[in-house]
Amino acid sequence: MTDLGDKYYVESFKKKGDELLNLAKALFKNPTAKDKKDLEKIQAESEKKIKRQIKDTEKISDKLKEMFDSPFWDEESLSCIRCGICTYLCPTCHCFDMNDEVTSSSPIKGERVRTWDNCQFPDFTMHSSGHNPRPDKASRLRQRILHKFQYFVELYKNYQCTGCGRCISKCPVGIDIIEVLEKARDYGS
Ligand code: SF4
Ligand code: SF4
Repeated sequence: MTDLGDKYYVESFKKKGDELLNLAKALFKNPTAKDKKDLEKIQAESEKKIKRQIKDTEKISDKLKEMFDSPFWDEESLSCIRCGICTYLCPTCHCFDMNDEVTSSSPIKGERVRTWDNCQFPDFTMHSSGHNPRPDKASRLRQRILHKFQYFVELYKNYQCTGCGRCISKCPVGIDIIEVLEKARDYGS
């Protein structure tokens, strides 16, 4: 949805979106030539505001795949204080936890509660056996980066990152996802 001032320009990019718009046809009008021009102008102005862009992005996913066991992740995660801000603020992070909680002891009652969770926390992947497949900061930073820029690309041919920059501006120790990706792209070359 693009805000044109007194109305929104609504576009659908997937079949599900087309279906939704079809269901609510009565709410929409076809855009005029001026609406289309206004949309192009807003998009061009928005693109001009983008100050940082990663070069050779097409190389990154394959490179990340090769780097699963690299010491790179130890180096990059050294300063991380595992606060989880980067993931809580990210518009594309959506991981959660499920807990069964007792709400009354007599009679015994409980409820299943879903809470937002965070892959940067050590407990996120802790098994009931005590084993943790992501026991350190390096493996958790790797997960955040690979999920967004390798696994998601393999599954959906797209990045799981909008480029909003929130994780960069709010990380208390200055871990910068663009720098991490650029270093990974050039690592060992
Ligand atoms: S915001 Fe920064 S310090 Fe906090 S978990 Fe994320 S990368 Fe680590
Ligand atoms: S820049 Fe990407 S990874 Fe960082 S918060 Fe925005 S969408 Fe998430």
